[in-house]
Amino acid sequence: MGVFDDLVGQERAVVTLRRAAAAGADMLAGGRGAGMTHAWLFTGPPGSGREEAARAFAAALFCPDQGCGHCDMCHQVAIGSHPDLEIVRPQGLSYGIKDTRQLILRAAGAPTLGRWRIVLFEDADRATEGASNALLKAIEEPPPKTVWLLCSPSPDDMMITIRSRCRLVTLVTPPTAAVAHVLATRENVPPAMAEFAARAAQGHIGRARRLALDEEVRKRRDSVLAIPKSLTGVGACVMAAERLVKTAEEEAAAVTAVLNESEITELRQIYGEGSSGKGLNKGLIRGGAGALKDLEDRQKSRATRTKRDVIDSALLDLVAFYRDVLAVQLGAHVELANEDRRADLDDLARSSTPEDTLRRIDAIMRCRRRLSANVNPQMAVESMTISLRQPWL
Ligand SMILES: [Zn+2]
Repeated sequence: MGVFDDLVGQERAVVTLRRAAAAGADMLAGGRGAGMTHAWLFTGPPGSGREEAARAFAAALFCPDQGCGHCDMCHQVAIGSHPDLEIVRPQGLSYGIKDTRQLILRAAGAPTLGRWRIVLFEDADRATEGASNALLKAIEEPPPKTVWLLCSPSPDDMMITIRSRCRLVTLVTPPTAAVAHVLATRENVPPAMAEFAARAAQGHIGRARRLALDEEVRKRRDSVLAIPKSLTGVGACVMAAERLVKTAEEEAAAVTAVLNESEITELRQIYGEGSSGKGLNKGLIRGGAGALKDLEDRQKSRATRTKRDVIDSALLDLVAFYRDVLAVQLGAHVELANEDRRADLDDLARSSTPEDTLRRIDAIMRCRRRLSANVNPQMAVESMTISLRQPWL
């Protein structure tokens, strides 16, 4: 099984990447390598598998058979231990110029194993303006064997000058049937559950997998989708908002706590803090305090981002719910994400107008924009739940 087999519903992108990998091999063999280039931009909606596609491409470039899926090179890429592949995952809200400059220096080194040196930059749209400018220079004059794989939701999220120097790989939302098939065949999920999870996640494979395999995730989805019916008065709206924000906080805390602890332990080991301190160089102790402060700042920024991401994913579930209501109201024959809540959809469809539903979808989208503009989550979500309320209740 080759590395591209895991990319669900991305046939067009796979054709491009296979050709480029072949051209890359040709280039290494001294040929012209037409079709290979040093800067790539992978774009696509959340869950379409941007990072997976970039990773598969990296494996195909390293692999002597252009992505066989079972050699040492392919394996090292899969587990993230290939010495010539650096994966950058901005953990905070932005990725700064200092980190970018260091990254560019590392990327300029010669490959250890002789083929390529590849940087896979996830969420490259989080690079600050200064960082983007530094990145642009690196992409304009790449060392002969350095390859940049940038990932962002859409080309518009990147600076136009960077965009125009990258070859674009556009991923699409995979069809429900394809996602269900992957869950059933690769994860042994029973067909009915696979079908439900694929529909509910609307083509987002990672989310579909979590929904299918983790009961807690299904419970959280249930509590989010119970919100529309619960909004019977202002008090209920405030409470629903509080619950949503609190659940997000708890989930984010659970995700980040594990990471934080291991990072701090690692740092202490490097700087010897926790030992008696005797004989430790004073400069090193000072350096340790600075590094710990840096780490704490980064962790705080990551916690904020995780909480925001969790709320956003709940809001997307709500958007899907009201979009289903609208489809029912308009009698559109489309696949409903929330077929499992047909009774609730019908209820809301009957008791409101399509205009009401559109207004509600607007309110959710406004809340998403406000959250990404740093508005206090409780305030933003509360004003949304109040807009979602049935006016006559
Ligand atoms: Zn291989």
